[in-house]
Amino acid sequence: MNAEIISVGTEIVLGQIVNTNAPFLARQLATLGITADRQLAIPDQRDLMVEAIRSAWQRSSLVFVCGGLGPTADDVTLAAVAAALGTDLTVDQDHWQWIKGTFKQRHKVMMPENIQQAKYLTGGTPLVNAVGLALGSWYERDGHRLVVLPGPPREFKPMVTREVMPRLAKVIGQHTQITSRTLNFFGRPESELMDEVATVTADLTGVTITSYVQPDAIQVRMTVRNQAQAEANRLLDTAQAAIVAKEAPFFFGVGDDCRLVNVVVDLLRQRGLRVTAAESLTGGMFQSTICSVPGASNVFDGGLVTYAATAKEHLLGIAPEVIEKNGVVSAATAAQMAEKSREKLNVAIGLGFTGVAGPDSLEGQPAGTVWIGLAIEGQPTQTKLCHLGAYRGRQAVRRQSVQAGLQMLYQALIK
Ligand code: ATP
Ligand code: MG
Repeated sequence: MNAEIISVGTEIVLGQIVNTNAPFLARQLATLGITADRQLAIPDQRDLMVEAIRSAWQRSSLVFVCGGLGPTADDVTLAAVAAALGTDLTVDQDHWQWIKGTFKQRHKVMMPENIQQAKYLTGGTPLVNAVGLALGSWYERDGHRLVVLPGPPREFKPMVTREVMPRLAKVIGQHTQITSRTLNFFGRPESELMDEVATVTADLTGVTITSYVQPDAIQVRMTVRNQAQAEANRLLDTAQAAIVAKEAPFFFGVGDDCRLVNVVVDLLRQRGLRVTAAESLTGGMFQSTICSVPGASNVFDGGLVTYAATAKEHLLGIAPEVIEKNGVVSAATAAQMAEKSREKLNVAIGLGFTGVAGPDSLEGQPAGTVWIGLAIEGQPTQTKLCHLGAYRGRQAVRRQSVQAGLQMLYQALIK
């Protein structure tokens, strides 16, 4: 099956924002064997939109219109779609009540225009937006389907995976049965990982394997087509076993939404262990990442941000000689930060992060040089030196440091 994606937004057309929604959707569609072979970006202009939607609708059996569902005057998508299809808009009363309740709960004044966000295409079905106000729409007529989705990626992506994909899978299922599974890895270059994956799965037929680099993981997606569920699962199990046997230290879980930090927090909770950290270049980002997981309080009480050497000395009690002799970016300092934070918080595990976030070098060490310490009760303290890609910028170095710390912790926990 083929699809068309119409991305709506003057900012996209002017190059002020990068269109990440269309590629995300295209990748998702590809897993169902649907090719988005026409992709168009148009400004928030009603006449252009009506024309584009009309011709896509006539040409294709599946059309996506993405963006411009806000309440402001420049958001005209829904009205343009309705005009192009010759239909109307219906207010979803339950959703309208919910929007009003949300404004009340947040002590915010609601504008009458907010009713726009409770509307969907008459004759179609509203699509739930779990993290935003605007509903999406799913509309079918004469063998054609059109889907309207909001623009902000944090709303768009979950709507694609939770609302659109299951519906499309049903449509496609009438023709093709697709079963897929995603494996998550860290700490390997994608090409190296995929070369090894190709080698260990060379004898397997019937499983298509693709990879996708996420900020914190490499996802390997295995897909089986046109097999009964039991046989599809057997093929996926066989492929997974072969891949995981080869890549065990780098494999951390199954599923599109699987995140390393969730897996780590889960392992800590299962083992009744608590974690803390003393953070220099990451400035609390490791602790904040741990706190992003619901239930973090089961494994985290608190920790320290010790940016300057004096803070490392005063808050952690690291002897000035240790820093003077080894430097602030050193194995010895990272180890002491891990050990002292663990002692201060009286928990099983402490991490220390010290390094050069950049762009300038420090103590003669180039940006991207990071030492991480890991102190686990009853075990010798480990340290790890990372050379992170400073060309990606300061924030990326800090984020990668957090991921490297989580990877170290994960590998220690699964031993
Ligand atoms: P809102 O109520 O936030 O206005 P909306 O559905 O009207 O929602 P848009 O106005 O199209 O959405 O876009 C809102 C913001 O979402 C944009 O300014 C941009 O930051 C982001 N965004 C929209 N479309 C895309 C896209 N295709 N790729 C990446 N970001 C996007
Ligand atoms: Mg908008």
